[in-house]
Amino acid sequence: MIELLKDLIRIKSDDIEGANKALLYCKSWLEERDIAPVLYEHNAKFMLFAEIGSGDDCIVWNGHVDVVPGNPEQFIPYIEGDLLYGRGSADMKAGVAAMMQAFYELSLVPHRLKKKVQLHIVTDEETSGDTSKFLVDQGFHGDFVICGEPTQLHIGLQAKGIVQLDIVLKGKSSHGSRPWEGINAIEQAFAFDQEMRKLSFLSARNTFYDYPSLNLAKIHAGERFNVVPDKCIISYDIRFVPGQQADNIIKEIKHAASSHFPDSNVIIHSIAPAVTTEENNEYVKKIQQITSILTERPTKLFGQHGSADTRFYAETGAGAIEFGPSGADWHGEKEYVLISAVQQFKQILISFILE
Ligand SMILES: [Zn+2]
Repeated sequence: MIELLKDLIRIKSDDIEGANKALLYCKSWLEERDIAPVLYEHNAKFMLFAEIGSGDDCIVWNGHVDVVPGNPEQFIPYIEGDLLYGRGSADMKAGVAAMMQAFYELSLVPHRLKKKVQLHIVTDEETSGDTSKFLVDQGFHGDFVICGEPTQLHIGLQAKGIVQLDIVLKGKSSHGSRPWEGINAIEQAFAFDQEMRKLSFLSARNTFYDYPSLNLAKIHAGERFNVVPDKCIISYDIRFVPGQQADNIIKEIKHAASSHFPDSNVIIHSIAPAVTTEENNEYVKKIQQITSILTERPTKLFGQHGSADTRFYAETGAGAIEFGPSGADWHGEKEYVLISAVQQFKQILISFILE
């Protein structure tokens, strides 16, 4: 399994071509072990689907082989003690390698499989998540999904949802020397931003999160010193707490915009729902118990601030968690994964299916 992980790190999968290559490598590796994965293609991006076992329950293991760009030397894996360094070692080729190895080991004991196990390997988690979404759209979402992102073997139970939008504020131009004759759209944007920060959706909280987040991400306005700007576009990235509804947030923002600035306009760019898997989900309790015994420490449940491919599965009503081995500095220069944690992760995946 560690050799498989090192081979995957050597495949520079920081673009579509490389990620597809890594995916084909996974396909061959499984085929050499008498597993028959199905290859899908969507917008020139590959996905792999395989299934073993039978029964009413279906567990999905999801992993991505694409990585964020790295220095050339990061694509040469090396080991120091228990640490395996390399781009994608933690995020998340370790998760993929462990899932493949566990899948293979389970395929050798078909009579012991009382549920279905699906393996989903995808190629664009770091950029768009289209490939996981594609698999979900084919109806492959199962009853419970584990995305093998690096979580130090704790359970990322929830993830914030996303609303990204523009507010377009309109003013009135005038000569820069006579600003009182115009209406400055940039100043309106500043005033709107103050109102935005008072809105009630920003004070939501739940067990895992103390607040949503609001990032004023972009401002577009103004052309010349001697002109009062008549238009200003400000763009927000909002990450809301599971339990909140994107529609209600948008309604509150639109109401604030129209009541303070009747000429303003709200343009929605994207909405992604939160991942709302509950603490009392039976699968979560089981994986928590198995992990705590194996690692000899309590397994924590936590909420992610960012989002992963869990969001596509969670939309279908399936429980979805981020759960994977321990490592550090993913997206950084000294990314590594703990080899012992990869072994433990594989063991947990197998126990979770067989117990
Ligand atoms: Zn990842």
